[in-house]
Amino acid sequence: MSALDDDISEMHLLLGIIHNVDVGLVVLDRNYRIKIWNHFMWNHSGINPVTLTDKNLFEEFPELPAQWLQKKLDTVFLLNNRAFSSWQQRPYIIRFNSYNPITGRSETMYQNMTIFPLTGISGEVEHVCLMLYDATDAALDEAALQSANEELDRLGRTDGLTGLLNRRAWENHLQTEFKRFPRSKQASTLVMFDIDHFKKVNDTYGHQAGDEVIRITSALLQETKREMDIAGRYGGEEFCVILLDTDSQGGIVFAERLRKAVEATRVTYEGQEIRFCISLGVAEVNKELNHHTAWLERADKALYQSKEDGRNRTTLHTPG
Ligand code: GH3
Ligand code: MG
Ligand code: MG
Repeated sequence: MSALDDDISEMHLLLGIIHNVDVGLVVLDRNYRIKIWNHFMWNHSGINPVTLTDKNLFEEFPELPAQWLQKKLDTVFLLNNRAFSSWQQRPYIIRFNSYNPITGRSETMYQNMTIFPLTGISGEVEHVCLMLYDATDAALDEAALQSANEELDRLGRTDGLTGLLNRRAWENHLQTEFKRFPRSKQASTLVMFDIDHFKKVNDTYGHQAGDEVIRITSALLQETKREMDIAGRYGGEEFCVILLDTDSQGGIVFAERLRKAVEATRVTYEGQEIRFCISLGVAEVNKELNHHTAWLERADKALYQSKEDGRNRTTLHTPG
């Protein structure tokens, strides 16, 4: 075989590789005219390379981000350097629909792109190659991971039985609200409450019935508070709520409304009617307090007073 035959045979091999490789390859000249459009591009776009040869890329694909892409291409021509773009920056360069067998969904192919210079015999950059990788799997994995993390995060903040904030998450809100107060000057009020003689509910009707009473209490709390107020399950049968932009008088009105709603409620569990009531403590935020836990202590003290005074009542914390 002659050297020429060798060259032709090698060229043939290279063309085979270019067309069969599982990435998109597009070769452009300085006028963005398409010189190569490999089979990957053909398969995914449905456009035969024959109809594209020597056509201007931006005229053929008017939906391309022309300004952005031209700038990248020009830089590669000028500096003889590579340029990149990832799906995180720009989900796709050329829109291809891709079918995902795992999710069973058809969606746009996410793409990573590399542009590299191709020098001619003169040593000048005469062409560039735009290489597109299918990054759909990575993008979907990341989306799934993110939504799993968000769900975990949500679960970490909520109480399983009631869906209210758990104690830790709620205390974070309390701390935030406490720190906000000196700047906002708008008072907020804390209400803590506890179900009266709850042990008796468990002992008389069973633990499941007790759970139902806790759930119903939580539902009443949710219905009574405004959307912006922050409610949590503080412990077993103890609840707490931050009433935003509310003074102690507003706190008492809220507490009494909730107390009466609970008192009027009948929970039926396995044919048995359960009645129950709650004791509440109310404390407005105050600039004398040096820590959010001191605020909490005031509401707790008031709640304890309600228990002392015979339960099923509201007490406002009074200094001294
Ligand atoms: P008081 O009026 O003084 O509050 O009396 P109490 O019986 O309600 O007080 P105590 O705090 O001694 O009892 C609370 C009981 O609540 C004890 C515990 O077994 C029960 N408990 C705590 N968490 C749950 C829960 O998630 N489900 C059920 N069913 N019971 C719970
Ligand atoms: Mg109790
Ligand atoms: Mg208790």
